[in-house]
Amino acid sequence: MPVTPDQQAEIDAERANPRQTLRATSPGMEQHLYTAIPVLDHGFVRVVDYMGDDAAICQAARVSYGKGTKSVQNDEGLIRYLMRHWHSTPFEMCEIKLHVKLPVFVARQWIRHRTANVNEYSARYSILDREFYIPAPEHLAAQSVVNNQGRGDTLSGEDAAKVLEILKADSSRAYDHYAELISEEEGSVGLARELARMNLPANIYTQWYWKVDLHNLLHFLRLRADAHAQYEIRVYADAICNVVADWVPFAFKAFEDYRMGAVSMSVQMMDSLRRMLKGEEVTQENSGMSAREWREFMGVIEG
Ligand SMILES: Cc1cc2nc3c(=O)[nH]c(=O)nc-3n(C[C@H](O)[C@H](O)[C@H](O)COP(=O)(O)OP(=O)(O)OC[C@H]3O[C@@H](n4cnc5c(N)ncnc54)[C@H](O)[C@@H]3O)c2cc1C
Repeated sequence: MPVTPDQQAEIDAERANPRQTLRATSPGMEQHLYTAIPVLDHGFVRVVDYMGDDAAICQAARVSYGKGTKSVQNDEGLIRYLMRHWHSTPFEMCEIKLHVKLPVFVARQWIRHRTANVNEYSARYSILDREFYIPAPEHLAAQSVVNNQGRGDTLSGEDAAKVLEILKADSSRAYDHYAELISEEEGSVGLARELARMNLPANIYTQWYWKVDLHNLLHFLRLRADAHAQYEIRVYADAICNVVADWVPFAFKAFEDYRMGAVSMSVQMMDSLRRMLKGEEVTQENSGMSAREWREFMGVIEG
């Protein structure tokens, strides 16, 4: 269960208590505020706080005294121009603070993004819950034979059942030992929590607060909502994409158009494309590209 009934009651109480403010708010984001969006089997993402909206990006770009808004079209055009030309600092004026519950092996990938502020649940101080990520059967796949960093065919039948059995049994046994080691009952060793946790597997859930500005968040989403990212982090990135689309719709659309859906071409690629448009026959051999780069180029132009 992503949140317990008690936690949900806390969230509901926050949402039932609107405050008046002079600050700019984003109607789309207000819908998300505090609510836990379920991700994976026990995880979630929820917005704890945010600052700014599309207008704040324009306000900063124009270094304005007031709203900084000219007209809706002007604002959208300005945001698209800023995104297209990598004028990134106006996007840093918007911030988001998320509460994320995620498996430890996903957290290890996530924490590589250094341009955020993080505070993680302390397993030195608190006892971790008995919650482990067990993939849904359709996400159990064999090692890819073409990509060392990816998955191949989905496992099925006995193979899938065996994997699930091992994952569940190992998680359960490790947690039983953890509980035994930290037990304060008479006759127990009463091992320190900071030591007992070392035996827990990487599919156990942790939680953190993660605060980041919009520019760096979009960079994170560009890498982690991408098809090359591991499924288990991608689903978090996808959930955050939906939030960002409601929070700053103009910025998110520009991001989709100029980052997510865009490609970057080398000089050789641009040259080959121009020659092709003139009707010249261009091959890998006369393109100046390596075989791998040529394959990537073909992937781009053939779609
Ligand atoms: C599909 C995929 C596979 C990956 N595989 C591996 C792997 O096999 N092994 C591995 O170790 N990692 C791997 N990574 C992690 C990757 O190399 C980056 O560490 C991670 O994506 C964070 O990116 P970043 O540094 O750009 O982000 P951030 O840390 O958020 O930084 C954002 C930007 O800020 C700047 N910046 C931040 N800190 C510094 C600094 N100290 N010095 C200079 N500039 C800085 C850089 O311009 C950087 O791009 C993988 C990532 C992806 C998406």
